[in-house]
Amino acid sequence: MAPKKLKFNSRTIHGGQHPDKAYGAVMPPVYFTSTYAQAKPGEHLGYEYSRSHNPTRTALQASLASIESGNYALAFASGMAAIDTVIKLLQPGDEVISTNDLYGGTYRIFTKVFAAYGITFHFVPMGDIDEVKKHVNANTKLLWVETPTNPLMQIIDIKAMSLIAKANNVLLAVDNTFASPYLQRPLELGADIVMHSATKYLGGHSDVVLGALALNDTALVERLAFIQNSSGSVPGPMDAFLVLRGIKTLHVRMQRHSENGRAVAEYLTSHPDVEKVYWPGFETHPNHEVAKAQMDDFGGMISFVHKDNSLDKAVAIVSALKIFTLAESLGGVESLAGHPASMTHASIPKEIREKTGVTDGLIRLSVGIEDSEDLISDLAQALG
Ligand SMILES: *Cc1c(COP(=O)(O)O)cnc(C)c1O
Repeated sequence: MAPKKLKFNSRTIHGGQHPDKAYGAVMPPVYFTSTYAQAKPGEHLGYEYSRSHNPTRTALQASLASIESGNYALAFASGMAAIDTVIKLLQPGDEVISTNDLYGGTYRIFTKVFAAYGITFHFVPMGDIDEVKKHVNANTKLLWVETPTNPLMQIIDIKAMSLIAKANNVLLAVDNTFASPYLQRPLELGADIVMHSATKYLGGHSDVVLGALALNDTALVERLAFIQNSSGSVPGPMDAFLVLRGIKTLHVRMQRHSENGRAVAEYLTSHPDVEKVYWPGFETHPNHEVAKAQMDDFGGMISFVHKDNSLDKAVAIVSALKIFTLAESLGGVESLAGHPASMTHASIPKEIREKTGVTDGLIRLSVGIEDSEDLISDLAQALG
């Protein structure tokens, strides 16, 4: 096993990994098996049934824990399955405080699934710390943070949220999908649980759907693992292998995503027909100081609005792009463009969407790791 103290750029490759015990395979074998032989009833090598454990998944979980600076990680069938498991820690009557600028699928499972089980969700602008405090009461059990937020790239102060959580004996969970642990490690900032859609930057190649939780507390990981094993929301071994392979290049990809993100954000800001660019790396970004304090760089997620700010114009621009592919999702090596109002955020009612700034004219970019000059030329022709 690699030494624990390795720097991040080595932990992506070596964190929690060791050659396979059987033949010394450097990459963990993909253990396509549902069950494991027992010498006598109950006498086995730590594996009984693959809903509970699988060696390929174990290898991925060790890597996830290492890169998030956690003691433990659990891998799930999807990011949503990971969120589902966290909310199942709660009881009817419990309350959750979350951001008002939230991944559409998270908003949907909160309001359309778990609200029916008697759990109350408050969606507040979490950049305003007093607004969060105002909603805390004796029933509050969880703060659910996403930062940078999707799609408006607001930055929420994780340390400030952890102080509120600790003072009120409430759990703090952070969806770290947009940043990835290369840019931000919430457990180091006081979060109790980090959640990932590994479908995005961790996998990094748009070829797998998988989710993850990372955390430090032993009693909490046991409860989460119990819920997961009871519900069965586990990834298959091939998916675990693909994400583990993706993580090995996370640091190299994220460095380029961040460089290209800056180049594209600066280009868009200089374009006369672009009204607004949302990217936390700008000094003019309202939460730039918090971003600088809690992130190591600013990544490749950018949203922008053309000066027409209309549905027709946004549709025309995203349809004219040739290198950026019009598609849901983000975080792959290839650049993607999306139209949140009709795609990722269509499940949020229009009045609520528009109030937070997710207008019909908003376009979201996941800037990939191609040559930034090609990406800028593509945007130039689509805007022209
Ligand atoms: C994609 C995404 C999710 C959901 O993850 P899946 O792997 O698609 O289930 C949750 N949060 C954020 C921020 C996401 O981008």
